[in-house]
Amino acid sequence: MKIQIPKGTFDILPYCAEEPWQQSDLWQSVEAVICETAREYGYKEIRTPIYERTELFDRGVGETSDIVSKEMFTFDDKGGRSISLRPEATASVMRSFIEHNLAQAGSIHKLFCLGPMFRYERPQSGRYRQFHQFDVEAIGAAGPEQDAEVIDLLCQIYRRLGLKNLKVRLNTVGDSESRDLYRTALIDYFKPHFEQLSADSKIRLEKNPLRILDSKAPEDKQLVLEAPSILSHLNPASQRHFQEVCRLLDQIEVPYEIDDRIVRGLDYYNKTVFEVTTEDLGAQNTIGAGGRYDGLLATLGGPDLPGIGFATGLERVLQVMLSQKSPVGKKARPLIYFIPLGDEARTKCFLLATQCRHNKIAAEVDLQSKKVQTGLQNATKADAVYCAIVGSDELKSGRLQLKHLESRQTSEANLEQLLNHLQGLVV
Ligand code: ATP
Ligand code: MG
Repeated sequence: MKIQIPKGTFDILPYCAEEPWQQSDLWQSVEAVICETAREYGYKEIRTPIYERTELFDRGVGETSDIVSKEMFTFDDKGGRSISLRPEATASVMRSFIEHNLAQAGSIHKLFCLGPMFRYERPQSGRYRQFHQFDVEAIGAAGPEQDAEVIDLLCQIYRRLGLKNLKVRLNTVGDSESRDLYRTALIDYFKPHFEQLSADSKIRLEKNPLRILDSKAPEDKQLVLEAPSILSHLNPASQRHFQEVCRLLDQIEVPYEIDDRIVRGLDYYNKTVFEVTTEDLGAQNTIGAGGRYDGLLATLGGPDLPGIGFATGLERVLQVMLSQKSPVGKKARPLIYFIPLGDEARTKCFLLATQCRHNKIAAEVDLQSKKVQTGLQNATKADAVYCAIVGSDELKSGRLQLKHLESRQTSEANLEQLLNHLQGLVV
């Protein structure tokens, strides 16, 4: 019996015509654009293990969150310690930041992290059990400029990946004083409708009524629409911060919409929260999300520094790129594809191709086919720019024909000067 891939996971493949978003070339281009943009904005990479002690997520993400209460891959290791595969990056980054005392290195810490995350969810399009996130954390700055920078970075990455028609939905959940006021208002509002609420939201009403706004249950939807707004429960400091973030985004021309229903599913958020959505994905339409988490580091036993961050899911980003026909992510292609005829020619082609590669020119040799026709087909399949047939005539005369596969035009080149010739070609 053939063994199959576990449910909710997928392979990233050298070629995959049915699901082009699973092609490794595309992943590499996307990751390169993301990391380069993050570095330009001054962010440095941090890599943490893919598993942590379970209590980190209990405390860092919050036991009442969906992620921790329903979606974690948790098991005991052989030493009897409870371990969980990371469902998100923020808690791990904070753990590492505290453990290595990174606060000592300066006053502002701009970090990014990219890798697989694990959530035990019902698999469907855009929702997997192992998926990948690009995650950013800016620690140390409490001012609205930091919020605007982080949101701008996310939008800049999407723009460079060629994504269109995205919506930045922005809200604030205020500071703790504003949230206390709002929580009371929400309880007063939902209590008379208790029986209409979904089972999950009945529990949320007691534990964290803000979460009800995040509910996807149809029975909650109408009630949520008419619930009071956080925006009328902000104290002056929270209101000022939010207005400043909006003003800065206006100035740097990052379009957004204020959506007072956004609260985000995690306990640690305060002040600014945001999501980026697309119309081109169907049900899983949020591609990135984040917010400010000023108390989180202290909760985990670290210094009391403010922070703000986001995470964006790479699978959904790649799927939108393909549905919108983004030009980013062209496949790596050989500049030249050699088709040797006979043993002597094969060795010569191998030497030429190696010389090309040593000089950063992508070159391929057809080591298998015996016929010119098959060789030409392989050159086209490899998406080569030029191909050259090398047989005894070429070896004798020291000259070969370079064929441009797209235009079908040929040009002559000297075998011994081939490298020079290729370096001078404009693709
Ligand atoms: P959703 O509402 O879709 O469940 P979420 O609020 O749980 O999303 P976050 O925890 O904010 O998601 O994660 C940030 C991003 O990570 C999401 O916007 C999405 O792009 C991606 N993501 C989250 N869960 C999954 C998953 N199971 N499969 C693929 N991508 C995911
Ligand atoms: Mg989720």
